[in-house]
Amino acid sequence: ESFDDLDLVPEITQACKNLNFTKMTPIQAKSIPPALAGSDIIGLAQTGSGKTAAFAIPILNSLWHDQQPYYACILAPTRELAQQIKETFDSLGSLMGLRTTCIVGGMNMMDQARDLMRKPHVIIATPGRLMDHLENTKGFSLRKLKFLVMDEADRLLDMEFGPVLDRILKIIPTQGRTTYLFSATMTSKIDKLQRASLTNPVKCAV
Ligand code: AMP
Repeated sequence: ESFDDLDLVPEITQACKNLNFTKMTPIQAKSIPPALAGSDIIGLAQTGSGKTAAFAIPILNSLWHDQQPYYACILAPTRELAQQIKETFDSLGSLMGLRTTCIVGGMNMMDQARDLMRKPHVIIATPGRLMDHLENTKGFSLRKLKFLVMDEADRLLDMEFGPVLDRILKIIPTQGRTTYLFSATMTSKIDKLQRASLTNPVKCAV
């Protein structure tokens, strides 16, 4: 199955070509069509499966039609993963004027606050630092968020982030929001998280 068959906006189809993405990977072939149709998604897939593009492509396709700041937030368990996700968004969004920022621990709060004031479309964050900005950075909120992704959710819950994640989920609106949860494994904790945060999700396993 090729990206040409998906009816994506031309800027994204072309970006896939520029990256030499021709065929979809199995997780992409399973999750992108229902995601484009508007479903919440549970993706069971490992790193290396192409899962980042699997959630980035439907988000960017939707953003293209409705370019608003703070449109999507991706939660990741580590700085390194957040940076890799940012790079995937930047390359897939390179032809559509996409603005992204990474909000992770260990970096200067003021610099990050300034980046947030530039109104990025996509924020890729570790939970603790995102919470810090939601509480302390004036003018920043996720009230209009359209997409929330929890990437490597099993690791998000493994780490000290569990309680922070609960607080973030309480702050972010559920009305009008699409949610994607990606995890390498399906555990009872993940099942509980998905029941609390997703609506009629399509399960995509590879
Ligand atoms: P990920 O699992 O998201 O970390 O992606 C693993 C690697 O696969 C990354 O280097 C991507 O650039 C690459 N990739 C993702 N989708 C495709 C595709 N459809 N065709 C070829 N490479 C891909």
